[in-house]
Amino acid sequence: MTAVAIRLQDRKYEALIGSNLLNNVGSIVGEVRGPRCAIISDTTVAPLFGKRLEKSLTSAGFQPTVVTIPAGEQSKTLEQARTICDQMIAAGLDRQSFVIGLGGGVVGDISGFVAAIFHRGIPHVQIPTTLLAMVDSSIGGKTGMNTSAGKNLLGAFHHPSLVIDDVDLLKTLPRREFNQGFAEIIKHAIIADAEMFSALEALTTGDPPPFHSGATSALALQSLIGRNIEIKAGFVAKDEFDRTGERALLNFGHTIGHAIERAGNYQMFLHGEAISLGMVAASTISAKKAGLPQDQRDAILDRLRQFGLPTQLPANFPRKKIFEAIEFDKKFEGREIRFVLTPKIGSAFLSRDVTENDIHEAVDKL
Ligand code: NAD
Ligand code: MG
Repeated sequence: MTAVAIRLQDRKYEALIGSNLLNNVGSIVGEVRGPRCAIISDTTVAPLFGKRLEKSLTSAGFQPTVVTIPAGEQSKTLEQARTICDQMIAAGLDRQSFVIGLGGGVVGDISGFVAAIFHRGIPHVQIPTTLLAMVDSSIGGKTGMNTSAGKNLLGAFHHPSLVIDDVDLLKTLPRREFNQGFAEIIKHAIIADAEMFSALEALTTGDPPPFHSGATSALALQSLIGRNIEIKAGFVAKDEFDRTGERALLNFGHTIGHAIERAGNYQMFLHGEAISLGMVAASTISAKKAGLPQDQRDAILDRLRQFGLPTQLPANFPRKKIFEAIEFDKKFEGREIRFVLTPKIGSAFLSRDVTENDIHEAVDKL
């Protein structure tokens, strides 16, 4: 097991990464409060891992209540959060209790939000079960809730007290879900770690995923997850509340990626797939405006393809909607586009010089 420290302005917490951690959660969370806690999970993950987690907590003297929400993005609503809170109150949870989120980013966001508002804030333990949640959404303390107008328009900053990444839990993850986690990993490599970018090339996936084929690759996956947490935590430490622009660098590929997600009605692409396309476009613009060498742009595309991620839009994709979605985003933020560019793999900066025309050109090439 390895531990990565996430440092905040006034405290720090750890992400633990290893195998066979789920059965030991009861002893691992020993210090957090209790005895009552809520395990928030979804209808896909709870049947897979809920009982084992419950048993581990019960045998350590905790009194867990399992709250299950429907799997999927449509659960990230205030109504759902309220239903969860009602169940927690009915189960006798109070200010001394804590919340465990067992699931992907959806469960991470809603359980974190609930932990932020329940009795004005109780501790949150994250047990991510998707690669994306391990390397990205469980780190950084953002919780996002959707409204009918858009995604993640509501939320609170509420950092977890502890993150437990058990790589064994990824074995049941569908291949496409596993791969989308690599979009954020490749993003981290592009903006912060050229060495990791090169190392990714050796992780030939083939079929089945690398971690299925033995202890060595499980270890490789563990250290990859650890490194990605370090990278994200580094940006978060420099800009905890997303104010100075440091944290905004994590949005590489996301301006156009989000617009593609929205244009596809959140049906056509998973988040990581849309971000893959967004990173291709951002690399095109980086080549034009920031001097990204052509061979490095090619390498980015190769790496995305290596993990089954899309680098081209389907011919019939409603491209016009992408531009409408970018306009929509801009309206919401009430400011001009601040676009993340990479001058060379391993570094990134925020540019105000990217024009609508640059974006059009790059999207046309997709
Ligand atoms: P998700 O939570 O919907 O999980 C994807 C699917 O996989 C779900 O159907 C889930 O039930 C299933 N699943 C999860 N773990 C499994 C496992 N081990 N085996 C089998 N099936 C499993 O989606 P996600 O991709 O993990 O996260 C996306 C969400 O995260 C979005 O809502 C996004 O807004 C949010 N997010 C938040 C942040 C943040 O900083 N707070 C950052 C990135 C993304
Ligand atoms: Mg993302």
